[in-house]
Amino acid sequence: MANQKKQTFTGFVKVRGARENNLKNIDLEIPRDALVVFTGVSGSGKSSLAFGTLYAEAQRRYLESVSPYARRLFNQMAIPEVDEIEGLPPAIALQQQRGSGTTRSSVGSVTTLSNLMRMLYSRAGDYPDGQSIIYAEAFSSNTPEGACPECHGLGRVYEVTEQSMVPDDSLTIRERAIAAWPTAWLGQNFRDILTTLGYDVDIPWRDLPQKQRDWILFTEEKPVVPVYAGFNPAQVKEALQNKLEPSYMGTFTGAKKYVLHTFANTQSQLMKKRVSKYMLSGECPLCHGKRLRQESLAVKFAGLDIAALSRVTLSRLNEIFRPYTEEKATPLTKAEKAHPEKAMVTQRIAQDLVARIGVMLDLGLGYLNLERSTPTLSPGELQRLRLATQVRSNLFGVVYVLDEPSAGLHPADTEALLRALDRLKDSGNSLFVVEHEVDVIHHADWIVDVGPDAGEKGGHVLYSGPPEGLSKIENSVTRNYIFGMQPVTPKKTRIPKAWLRLENVTRNNLNNLAVSFPLGVFTSVTGISGSGKSSLVSQALVELVAGQLGQEAELLTASAEEAETLELDKVLTKDGKITEGMDAIKRLVRVDQKPIGRTPRSNLATYTGLFDQVRKLFAATEMAKSRRYDAGRFSFNVVKGRCPHCEGEGFVMVELLFLPSVYAPCPTCKGTRYNHKTLEIKYKEKNIADVLGMTVDAACEFFNAEPQVFRALDVVRQVGLGYLRLGQPATELSGGEAQRIKLATELQRIQHGNTLYILDEPTTGLHPADVEKLMAQLDKLVAQGNTVVVVEHDMHVIAASDWVIDIGPEAGEKGGMVVASGPPALVAKSKNSRTAPYLNKFFN
Ligand code: ADP
Ligand code: ADP
Ligand code: ZN
Ligand code: ZN
Repeated sequence: MANQKKQTFTGFVKVRGARENNLKNIDLEIPRDALVVFTGVSGSGKSSLAFGTLYAEAQRRYLESVSPYARRLFNQMAIPEVDEIEGLPPAIALQQQRGSGTTRSSVGSVTTLSNLMRMLYSRAGDYPDGQSIIYAEAFSSNTPEGACPECHGLGRVYEVTEQSMVPDDSLTIRERAIAAWPTAWLGQNFRDILTTLGYDVDIPWRDLPQKQRDWILFTEEKPVVPVYAGFNPAQVKEALQNKLEPSYMGTFTGAKKYVLHTFANTQSQLMKKRVSKYMLSGECPLCHGKRLRQESLAVKFAGLDIAALSRVTLSRLNEIFRPYTEEKATPLTKAEKAHPEKAMVTQRIAQDLVARIGVMLDLGLGYLNLERSTPTLSPGELQRLRLATQVRSNLFGVVYVLDEPSAGLHPADTEALLRALDRLKDSGNSLFVVEHEVDVIHHADWIVDVGPDAGEKGGHVLYSGPPEGLSKIENSVTRNYIFGMQPVTPKKTRIPKAWLRLENVTRNNLNNLAVSFPLGVFTSVTGISGSGKSSLVSQALVELVAGQLGQEAELLTASAEEAETLELDKVLTKDGKITEGMDAIKRLVRVDQKPIGRTPRSNLATYTGLFDQVRKLFAATEMAKSRRYDAGRFSFNVVKGRCPHCEGEGFVMVELLFLPSVYAPCPTCKGTRYNHKTLEIKYKEKNIADVLGMTVDAACEFFNAEPQVFRALDVVRQVGLGYLRLGQPATELSGGEAQRIKLATELQRIQHGNTLYILDEPTTGLHPADVEKLMAQLDKLVAQGNTVVVVEHDMHVIAASDWVIDIGPEAGEKGGMVVASGPPALVAKSKNSRTAPYLNKFFN
């Protein structure tokens, strides 16, 4: 145990009557200035306690002290359901936010390293003779002083051509030859204007004279003309002659102008994405993608301009700056002779940079560079970056609330994480960490175990105290995993039925890689953080297979919003092909932890499709038949059946002046979502709202005579989600819960085998007990003849795989190769693999 000596704590945070989400009115005392780890199965209530109660309350108190105006700027959490909390310091949450962060934020900006670099270039850079000093802002492409005038700081220029806007010139204008035009009303408006102007919109585009085509696409004029909506060309001609009153006056915009204007100005990422399809883009000829003005790029440090320096890895950056940190360093003494004040600035900034970068290197992030945009980082990487920034912030007396900081970390990287946490603690801060990783739990000064089970069956504090004490708590599931090794049940490794061979894979740090994935078995892809696992599996493999199947990979991988954020930074697989094995794959499915829906209108019952069956049952009752209610009547998305007041939402938004709006149950339907008439229909004494309020477990009983509904429910129960309510909004589900719902939906499909399932770190957020459940489900998929490939760090999962592909040996440029490949017992003996020593513990 990490803390054998009896620790004395400086003070305690005392919680009384916490009832957030599933918490059962709990009282709790936890030490300050200590590492407190919250454990428990997923859905037990750890986050509700750490984030929903402790952090939310700290934030609420802080916000009370700021002006109402400032309050609105915060993404305020709900006011927690708790009677009282004493002794709570101000809190900073380092939560993992999936798919968040704007495109314009980068490693350099979130860590504030970019600011330091700009200062360095401004004050201590090497200027060409005769150029006077420029301000730090001029080294940022986000400012008018810094942005390249040609590309406005984008680094790329966008152009449109006839070919890009009119992909199929055999179509007529009416048939949407100008694909780049807006759809719907605005597109029709442009067409009507052309009709008024006398253009023939009914002959193939290519048959129009070039002059006409050029005008339509490239004119800068914006003529305003009468529009006769719904008239055919002959009628329009007549109407014009007779000076008939037009439907309205329409303004024309050339297609090029429309596309470029929309791209530059729209607030909607969706629109931006749509029009970008009709543009050709290329590197800016002036700045060559460096985004900055020539004057700024002329300033050098260590022979590099600031854009070049932002592209080297943090490890390299560290090597570049280190020589400037020491008193008698050669580069410094040289500089000192010429400009003593410059040398001093250089040393000061270099010291700060090296110290900050050092923490990032320690956290295994040395392979990143400053330019990397945050949406392309994994949630774990982003959290560790922010953690590293905090370690250097010199704050004390603060509580840091963290959410599974070990996510995405290879065991080899976890030790560094623990060092960073210790540093925060040693500077006089408290750490509240929600975590499943056994090594982190072992490092705790204090454990709060929440349980015993998930949802309604959880929400109790089973134990709160120093780690050793947990061993005596009988109903704790966690205890089994922390004390007493869970033996790995040796299982027979399955034999691959075929191989999927990828060759010449070139992407991110993968360079001309050849790799074979076994089919019909369970494969774990391993390697330290940054070694290239995701590049290989979640990117190259997905894209190549999706391409062959004619599936659009993007649609499978990211929500619309995320796909768009990534658009500008999209790195496509530069090269790679599948040379073998595609005949054995008919379908590709990614099962991730992204929400199953972003509105409270989607829920477990709708997502799995079981609600369709339930609605049919209601429609088949005598009363429904006599009233001619069909299944649609029982959907809260359909007008006829739902509550008119809240339109089926079940709650209404109450606007509060100066405070974020709150939601309250709808006063008309009392939160049931349906209108009175619909609720009169009963199936086995229950109305449709009652059914949505049932837990899956209860519904299994209730529908046991209905094989179809029962089967769907039973799968959900088997993945360990029996505690969820059928109508529980998608927005309330955790990532792990969403993931298991997706799996359950897959499991109830009629399986023909031949599906390739890809999962990127599926165990994130899962308690070891839940990992076992997940594995059982994945095993079923394999047993049905499918292939499962996971990117994984959990050694239990890796050891229980049929095949392991270890990527490395190190991160970034020093990784990207297959270090070892084979059954786990074999990979465990590999000499070069960083994974082998950890895996080997399972095979003795
Ligand atoms: P853990 O962090 O242990 O995985 P959570 O605290 O996230 O558990 O969730 C505890 C329970 O509360 C779960 O049943 C979950 O579905 C439910 N829950 C989580 N968030 C909400 C919410 N915003 N509204 C209602 N229920 C929620
Ligand atoms: P892992 O999944 O093993 O942690 P990744 O495949 O995410 O590793 O990263 C491998 C290398 O590729 C790293 O050097 C990383 O910085 C780089 N990389 C990953 N994704 C991107 C991206 N979208 N843009 C630029 N570089 C990337
Ligand atoms: Zn430019
Ligand atoms: Zn209502």
